[in-house]
Amino acid sequence: MSLIVQKYGGSSVADVDSIKRVARRIIETKRRGNDVAVVVSAMGDTTDDLIDQAMDVNSRPPAREMDMLLTAGERISMSLLAMSIYAQGERAHSFTGSQAGFMTDARYGAAHIRAVKPDRVAEELGKGKVAIVAGFQGANSLGDDTTLGRGGSDTSAVALAVALEADVCEIYTDVDGVFTADPRIVPTARRIPSVSYEAMLELAASGSKILALRCVEYARRFNMPIHVRSSFSSRPGTLILPEGVDTASIPNVSWQ
Ligand code: ASP
Ligand code: MG
Repeated sequence: MSLIVQKYGGSSVADVDSIKRVARRIIETKRRGNDVAVVVSAMGDTTDDLIDQAMDVNSRPPAREMDMLLTAGERISMSLLAMSIYAQGERAHSFTGSQAGFMTDARYGAAHIRAVKPDRVAEELGKGKVAIVAGFQGANSLGDDTTLGRGGSDTSAVALAVALEADVCEIYTDVDGVFTADPRIVPTARRIPSVSYEAMLELAASGSKILALRCVEYARRFNMPIHVRSSFSSRPGTLILPEGVDTASIPNVSWQ
């Protein structure tokens, strides 16, 4: 049995129909014999909308209050996703970042992960449930919620995968992986089947929006395989693998 961490970004959970579709996909992964822990972003443009609302009431909002506000976005998607999984016949348990054991430094809005102790997540997985963790957040030593900076859910997913010793961290997005150019703009762009951490770091540093730089750095540090793929298809995406690790050793690459 493999342990798979799946991360679904905002575009994959933009509305309730998308949440139901993602729930179905998680259940399919589980029913193929895997344990599944999920990291989820806020629905669609929720984070941007919350920032706009904050700016409307205070053009210089206190950083702590901003994090209290923004962590709410992921709380909505995680709980709706858990409910949808129950409605489709499996059990799930959602966790805020702090409940999932994400401990960060004190920098509100740009916190760094200090440690991840996902004991409660592991316990629920052990009961046969799907664990769902709010991305982009943790708690500082005061117990206050912190956020990791925009796009931080990718890093949450890799950090959870490392802490749980998962076999792969799947990052779901709205394109079929990493391409030679943006396939939404350049129709002849080709998918890259696998790429090294170093090449991926260069892409991230040169402004590619596929994965956050910190997420790739974290994965490289701990040799965590990443699979970037689309939540809208079952096709394999792009694998980001440590040197010497073979594609064939990564679970859940192709199915159907
Ligand atoms: N919801 C947060 C953002 O939009 C975190 C994330 O999606 O990774 O930046
Ligand atoms: Mg988002």
